[in-house]
Amino acid sequence: MNSQKNNNTKVYLYNTLTRSKTEFVPLNPDNIGIYVCGPTVYDYAHIGNARPVIVFDVLVRLFRHLYGDKKVTYVRNITDVDDKIIDVHQRTGESISELTSRTIRAFQNDMSKLGNKAPDIEPRATDHIAEMQEMISLLIRKGNAYEKDGHVLFDVSTNSTYGKLSHRNLDELIAGARVEVAPYKKNPSDFVLWKPSDTNQPGWSSPWDQENHPGRPGWHIECSAMSQKYLGDTFDIHAGGVDLVFPHHENEIAQSQCANGLDSFAKIWMHNGFLTIEGEKMSKSIGNIVSVRDLLRENSGETIRLCMLMTHYRQPINWTTKSMKQAKKTLDGWYSSLKEFEGKGQKTEVPKKFIKALADDLNTPRAISILHELSSEQKKRPSQKNRDNLIAAGNLLGFFNFTPQEWFDSNEKNNNSEIDVLVVEKKILERDKAREAGDFSRADKLRNELTKLGVVLEDGPNGTKWRHN
Ligand code: AMP
Ligand code: ZN
Repeated sequence: MNSQKNNNTKVYLYNTLTRSKTEFVPLNPDNIGIYVCGPTVYDYAHIGNARPVIVFDVLVRLFRHLYGDKKVTYVRNITDVDDKIIDVHQRTGESISELTSRTIRAFQNDMSKLGNKAPDIEPRATDHIAEMQEMISLLIRKGNAYEKDGHVLFDVSTNSTYGKLSHRNLDELIAGARVEVAPYKKNPSDFVLWKPSDTNQPGWSSPWDQENHPGRPGWHIECSAMSQKYLGDTFDIHAGGVDLVFPHHENEIAQSQCANGLDSFAKIWMHNGFLTIEGEKMSKSIGNIVSVRDLLRENSGETIRLCMLMTHYRQPINWTTKSMKQAKKTLDGWYSSLKEFEGKGQKTEVPKKFIKALADDLNTPRAISILHELSSEQKKRPSQKNRDNLIAAGNLLGFFNFTPQEWFDSNEKNNNSEIDVLVVEKKILERDKAREAGDFSRADKLRNELTKLGVVLEDGPNGTKWRHN
């Protein structure tokens, strides 16, 4: 569409590397490179996994608006070789290729329903084993990596800037004990680039095989190899959740900079804050993991998207039923202000203050308050122009994919079959606790309550699953 843009808007982004918000100056305004660490595909995406996808989709939308559709290359990888995938395969018997293909399809489908555009390139780790092996060989030749007992390890002591992203020095990192001590490591913080596989684990032959035993890559090397392949030795932005700062991103920097011989890799590192459910960390053992799929059964993707963007991306989010209801109410208000005039809206400029809010380190709460202003203006003084402004701004953030009629019709459908996923998850949690404590009458009572809500429970070796009646 817009190949060349006349763009005067300054974008400011917070960089984890420098711990400061600075003006974003593209390395090459004709090709801005963004790499986001994508999912490990062994189960349906949970709502926490959706956070980086939504947040960095907004960043890409903003850049496309400012610099032109064709001036941004957005890469988001898929980790399809990982011990968690192997665990599920061994537990369920589903083949690894079936499991990963099925989970990838589900992920792409769920993310699209949340209003996210697909990345330009979505590389799978298993399609890039040769690139990873090449980078590992180079690191060995340069003296940054060593081979021991079929493993290849990165020698952290050879990288004087190690710790620059997480702002820790080597002693702190070792004391931090988040690193695994192993007999094949020279130094406890050395990390795996390649490791041997057992016969029942996926493996590829490599120069480091012992007795013809194939091996598999470590997690960090895949992003170094794939980002280099698609975006070059240095590029603009590398992003992911805050849990990836250490060790994943720190290790990527070490590998890539030692391999490329430069003192830079990604120029800006962006990290979204963590998401908790009703004040608790999501975890399998607690049983409070909320999948995007379950949320989508009862909520529109736009409601989930708005609920995510109401909090600034660097802040933690506490995901609650209450905040979902608030998001829904807000969207109802916006859609009802669009009822006044027909049609999808004329093409119009997105209001400048709206762009300015997003250009200020993706200040989505401020952008949303501007949508509120535009909507109440339209309610007070309905005009085609006000309506077009609201639609143009909302579209940029990924809203107003429906006509008001479609929006309110689909609400009616949902209201007839309303099951509150968070309430269900909470009751299942309580029931698990009651069963653990041997209080079976309480557990039965909770099961009955859930039955009345139209929920069927299925207890299995991996915990309790639920479905609609
Ligand atoms: P994973 O599939 O665990 O590798 O995670 C994929 C992406 O989701 C990474 O960028 C993680 O940082 C992010 N992520 C995982 N859990 C959460 C959470 N609870 N809140 C926010 N981001 C998360
Ligand atoms: Zn990564």
